[in-house]
Amino acid sequence: MIGRLLALLGEPVCLGCARPWQSASFCAACQSALVRGGVRGDLMCGFLYTGPLQRAILRWKEHGKEQHGGPLGGLFAARAKMLVATPLDFIVPVPPAFWRTLRRGFHPPDVLAQAAARALGVEVLKRALVRTDSARQMGRDRRSRARALIDKGRAIDRVTGKHVLVVDDVMTTGATARAAMSVIAAARPASVRFLALAAVP
Ligand SMILES: [Zn+2]
Repeated sequence: MIGRLLALLGEPVCLGCARPWQSASFCAACQSALVRGGVRGDLMCGFLYTGPLQRAILRWKEHGKEQHGGPLGGLFAARAKMLVATPLDFIVPVPPAFWRTLRRGFHPPDVLAQAAARALGVEVLKRALVRTDSARQMGRDRRSRARALIDKGRAIDRVTGKHVLVVDDVMTTGATARAAMSVIAAARPASVRFLALAAVP
């Protein structure tokens, strides 16, 4: 309650517990409660989707806290530097569903991609992938639906022969990650990997 009031007054609060804190980041207690993820083959995650990070991501995505994108992007970029080996040419954000971005005003994977690209000195390639119209997917079985929801975009040819990292905010089953990677793989990149900010444990 106090935290919410301070936030309204522009005083910094912790992203995880919303208590007063010296800056808009995780307080010491929340920082130490972050659970690091790691590498599962070509799928990587910075952290597990639990505790303070889960609360921060939910506020960011569902409660319109666009300003959380700065510190969460910084956290993501730091993990990307740890986990993603070079060479790397492009970072491709998982594409948004149109209506979602419209409602939210920003697309979390774009924010993360920009932060990681700055830290790693590579380019963000936004239009390699597109989200297909979900209304057309009605009646398909679940597996082909997950696959069909991501398709190649106008910039897909640019990934040929390049090292690509696909990024998303939260990985749940990995179906979206796999779908995005298979569309990239069909364009014959030098390599394709995936990094989420957080993975559901
Ligand atoms: Zn905290």
